[in-house]
Amino acid sequence: MPLNQAAPQAFTQRVALITGSTSGIGAAIARRLAADGFAVILHSRSSADVGNSMAAELPLAAYIQADLAQESERVRLIEQAVAIWGRLDVLVNNAGISRIIAHDDLAAATSAVWQELNEVNVVAPFHLVAQAEPHLRAAAAHGRSACVVNISSHAGVRPKGASIPYAAGKAALNHMTKLLALSLAPAIRVNAVAPGLVDTPLTATWTKAQALWQERAPMQRAAQPEDIAHIVAMLVDSHYLTGEILLADGGLNLT
Ligand code: NAD
Repeated sequence: MPLNQAAPQAFTQRVALITGSTSGIGAAIARRLAADGFAVILHSRSSADVGNSMAAELPLAAYIQADLAQESERVRLIEQAVAIWGRLDVLVNNAGISRIIAHDDLAAATSAVWQELNEVNVVAPFHLVAQAEPHLRAAAAHGRSACVVNISSHAGVRPKGASIPYAAGKAALNHMTKLLALSLAPAIRVNAVAPGLVDTPLTATWTKAQALWQERAPMQRAAQPEDIAHIVAMLVDSHYLTGEILLADGGLNLT
């Protein structure tokens, strides 16, 4: 868990933990929140070298590796994250996994697939919020609400997406966002961003989806990770929004 800078005694900077932040959308969110003045904690399942070099690039950052499919690793992630600077103001649940399975191929969506996706995309975000709650409440005592942002998907809003287990899990994450917003207010605001197609390594080969966004979406393109990071930064910056699911699909849902 190397730091690129020694922590001062009384740490007054706000601290954000972004899960799955060594690539794609999570990396853009981490860079954006760092530029907005946050101390950031980067995390991924496996790419420790990338995480450590990103942490060295950013003004004030640290990296922690943890497999979010494991309950004990989720507990360790929050404990280590809080130990670094002694506070946690923002949790971005970005880490997620997908499986591409045709929606009419019910046999391919096995119980094992459901369980694997559910553990990382649904159970882990809830459990991380539960572990982080006392620390987020303590941060809110500094004078402004703490904040959770869940990265879900347009597939959790409309009957679309890479597979039914993925889409149903993201729908669960959206509903969980509203339930948690109600339970944790006013100290902790909880919102979600539901992206459509985003240009990341994960979607580089999704040529059909890219053509769809260029031809049908009012904005005529997929999102860049920075577009999603901008929306996350808006939610974090708000003092009032809670329980919102911001659909960020370039207007495709209107067509
Ligand atoms: P990505 O594959 O670049 O990033 C996913 C991150 O999740 C990685 O850092 C990985 O380490 C982490 N992760 C996966 N399984 C993990 C585990 N078991 N333990 C710990 N970390 C784990 O993908 P991305 O496209 O940047 O996606 C980020 C989020 O955005 C995901 O939740 C995804 O479902 C969502 N999303 C992406 C798109 C898109 O078009 N790219 C669209 C809608 C929603």
